[in-house]
Amino acid sequence: MMRDRSFRQAKLTLISLSLGMLAFGPALAKTMPSERAARALHERILTLDTHLDTPAVVARPGFDILKHNDWKTAFAQVDVPRMKAGGLDGGFWVIYTAQGPRTPEGLNAARDAGLMRAVVIREMLARSPKVFGLALKADDAAKIAAEGKRVVFMSIENSYPLAKDVSLLETFYKLGVRMVGPVHFATNDWADSSTDKAEWGGLSPLGKQLVAEANRLGMILDQSHASDQVLDQMLELSSAPIIASHSGCKAIYDHPRNLDDDRLKALAAKGGVIQMNAFGAYLKPLPQSPERRAALAKLAAAYPNLASRSQAEQEAFRQARVRLDAAFPENRATFDDFMAHLLHAIRLIGVDHVGIGIDWDGGGGVVGLEDASKVWKITQALMAEGYSEEDIAKIWGGNVLRVMREVEAKAQK
Ligand SMILES: [Zn+2]
Repeated sequence: MMRDRSFRQAKLTLISLSLGMLAFGPALAKTMPSERAARALHERILTLDTHLDTPAVVARPGFDILKHNDWKTAFAQVDVPRMKAGGLDGGFWVIYTAQGPRTPEGLNAARDAGLMRAVVIREMLARSPKVFGLALKADDAAKIAAEGKRVVFMSIENSYPLAKDVSLLETFYKLGVRMVGPVHFATNDWADSSTDKAEWGGLSPLGKQLVAEANRLGMILDQSHASDQVLDQMLELSSAPIIASHSGCKAIYDHPRNLDDDRLKALAAKGGVIQMNAFGAYLKPLPQSPERRAALAKLAAAYPNLASRSQAEQEAFRQARVRLDAAFPENRATFDDFMAHLLHAIRLIGVDHVGIGIDWDGGGGVVGLEDASKVWKITQALMAEGYSEEDIAKIWGGNVLRVMREVEAKAQK
């Protein structure tokens, strides 16, 4: 009798415990797996980041991607040793062009800059064929990673280099580009930016042609940086799912670069994915000291057109920046701030529609996730939340490859 009662009591305790877990979600069950366990799972899966601004760093005189660089002093977050250390197989290497004047001269200069940045990526591949592999189709990624090489997909951030000529998209496609975003910080001839005034009410007539041309060629359309209306119109016009290659959630921080819950659901309903960025200023309000802001403005004014300056001048700038960061430390977001966005999106739209696009070398990186050598920690945090290996594999690359396969299939029709 006694034994029976205590058994019943134990059972009741178990039931109330599991009810408690239901009520409070997985938080109660949360146990952080060991680094060893997290790394073991992380090494088994294919890991792709959909927004690596690293080609801009590769283009810097003197930079060697095959060597270990320090993020704090070299201002470089991705190189081969750190990709290996963190377990990052590769991703989308970006042809980024800063928005400039929309004049014939400005457009010509942007076209040349975009083509030259594509050349930088192709030269990186050609110099180290045993280290990197160019991925042109979704199925290429796993093959390249299985050979122990880093996966290099190419993408365009800001269609300014298309110079108002939609046919140039095919030129970039032939160079290997498989993803295209119309716009960056400033509204341009293709679309309204989320961080600038609306000129078109979303996509321009040219921007709508870009959607059709990307669909025809088999290129993923990227909404990141574009306005909310651009997302709505891309979802309506595109015959294939679309991506937000490096974005965040408005529900966590109401910033124009982030997507609201309704739009996240609409993106998922069309088969798309949001890839979570770790760009501090989009994760939470991050006021910087007036002293830091003034020092940064002064430094920028002292080195205009930095990218086209000599190696010695770039080195002088780098040293000045290191001194500035020491004198006026940056107010930075943390790994937990990043995870808040990632987990919100996963809980809202499911593990099939969320991925990783940190924005390395483009402003991404937070305290606790400073460079590519730390990316295994995302896997550890997802394991702690109770996500399975299958879920984590989708988040780390499976989802973007599924989108890419759908884009490829639609293009073939
Ligand atoms: Zn960006």
